[in-house]
Amino acid sequence: MSSYHLGRSWPGHGTPVEDNCPCPKMPCGLVEDTNLHPDCDQHPFQHAKTMRSMHPADQCPEISDSGWADLQLRKLDPVIAYMEATDEDAWRVDTVRSADGTTNCFFGHLFNMGGNDARGNELWNGFENLWASTYMIYPINDGTDSRYPQPTPKQRILAYLRDLNTGAAKAVPQLMEEEFAYHLAQEKEMGARTI
Ligand SMILES: [Zn+2]
Ligand SMILES: [Zn+2]
Repeated sequence: MSSYHLGRSWPGHGTPVEDNCPCPKMPCGLVEDTNLHPDCDQHPFQHAKTMRSMHPADQCPEISDSGWADLQLRKLDPVIAYMEATDEDAWRVDTVRSADGTTNCFFGHLFNMGGNDARGNELWNGFENLWASTYMIYPINDGTDSRYPQPTPKQRILAYLRDLNTGAAKAVPQLMEEEFAYHLAQEKEMGARTI
C-alpha cells in the first residue's frame, strides 16, 4: 500500500483540523492522501498547506478494517460527502454495478469508498447494520419509493442519507427496537389471555 495518512495538526495535539474537514477519516484521526474530499480546503495538494503529521497507511497505529468502517459510519457526513463528489453519470439502477465497473448503485459506491475490498466489505456490512439494509436502499436508488421522487439515483440517495443522518428517516437499530417492542407487547397480550 502506497498511500499515506496526513494531518495538518501537530503530532500529540489531537486532530482539530481533520475533525472539521469533509475528508473521510482514518482510525488515527488523520486523512488519507488517496481518499481526500475535493471540497476540503485543507488537505488537497493544490492548497499547498503544510502537513505536520504523516505515516504510511499500512503503518497506521490504529489500522483495522472494521474500525475504519465504524469511523466512517458513526454519522453519515463522510458517506454523504463521498456520494456528493461522485458523478451523476456514475450512478445506475437495478444492479449494484455495471459489468465494466464504471457505474454503481449506492452500495457499489459505498464499497468503492472503502478503497480496498476488505474495507469496502466492512463499510457495506456496517452500513446495513447501523443505517439501512439493501431492501431499504434499493427502492430509493431505483426510484420506486414515492417518498423520494428526486430525478436521479444520486439525488434520491443523498436525500435519504440526509434524512437518516438527522433522524428524519428511521435507521436499522431504531426499527429493530420497535419490532422488538411490538413482539414483546404481542407476547404480553397472549400471556394475559392464557391466564
Ligand atoms: Zn480534509
Ligand atoms: Zn493513520
